[in-house]
Amino acid sequence: METGATDAQVKVVAQRVDALGLKSHVIVGTERVVVAAIGEKREHFKDSLEVLEGVSAVVPIVAPYKMASLEVRGEPSCIEVLDFKAGAGQFGVIAGPCSVESEDQILQTARAVKAAGATALRGGAFKPRTSPYSFQGLKEDGLKMLAAARDETNLAIVTEVMGTGDVDLVAKYADVLQIGARNMQNYRLLEAVGAVGKPVLLKRGASATMDEFLLAAEYILNEGNPDVMLCERGIRTFEEHTRFTLPLASVPYLHRKTHLPVIIDPSHGTGHTYMVPDMAVAAVAAGADGLILEVHPDPSSAMSDGYQSLNFEGFERTMQRVNVVRQALASLS
Ligand code: PEP
Ligand code: MN
Repeated sequence: METGATDAQVKVVAQRVDALGLKSHVIVGTERVVVAAIGEKREHFKDSLEVLEGVSAVVPIVAPYKMASLEVRGEPSCIEVLDFKAGAGQFGVIAGPCSVESEDQILQTARAVKAAGATALRGGAFKPRTSPYSFQGLKEDGLKMLAAARDETNLAIVTEVMGTGDVDLVAKYADVLQIGARNMQNYRLLEAVGAVGKPVLLKRGASATMDEFLLAAEYILNEGNPDVMLCERGIRTFEEHTRFTLPLASVPYLHRKTHLPVIIDPSHGTGHTYMVPDMAVAAVAAGADGLILEVHPDPSSAMSDGYQSLNFEGFERTMQRVNVVRQALASLS
């Protein structure tokens, strides 16, 4: 739409799009409003929309993912919930244990990560474990512990939802719904979290291409939920010195292709505590919009992923290094 187009003009355009058998999405940016028209392309559509008042241009989008593309929105998105902000120049840090283990563990961690500068608390209550014999999470009890930690600290709660049947339950307690790497292409689950209206942290599948990743995000956006963050958490390669291989080139690539914030997970991306601080700093230098870091009061006794978790002191030092790099980069602009 032209800058200054009225709400009424936007509404007429959206109605015309729907009447043409397409699906309209109104995207409100700081500079301009875009009406996305999703569906099969037909020649006469362009002409019949171009003549409407307030329309600046009708532009075909070549990317297979439409709502996720930077082309459509024209500016980066910022996801905001409680004190957490990521994207469009805002940097968000999500920290906490792999799994919620007890009220004491999650409260202690929440206080420590908040004091060091985190704005969101992670912690799995439903855990996708490789073996069915491993700890599967505290389920609703874990969600209640997370909610209690939010009530005390105002940290936004980020927690995984594994199945469509759990979406309402997890959404009742969480501020951000995490879709794990193993579920990145569970399309019914993506649709279900798209319908909930809470921000989503979508983790990249360990063998997913960037197009597959962005099309997975598109499933959520297409349900009308605009608040999706993309999380690079490493991919499976022939390499064995790390748990996964963490491609930081994903950050500039995704920033070129999409307006969605990009969060880096150096914990799962390396699988080794000693590598996490360096890769966190590298992610910031690469332009990431945020980090998700596993932090545990005593990593050696963690019920999952202790070998890649920072203790409180390690997290605090990592945050100091992250902040120094962020300030150095900000001083250039
Ligand atoms: C997690 O965040 O603890 C997790 C299971 O991550 P991923 O889905 O990336 O393996
Ligand atoms: Mn984990």
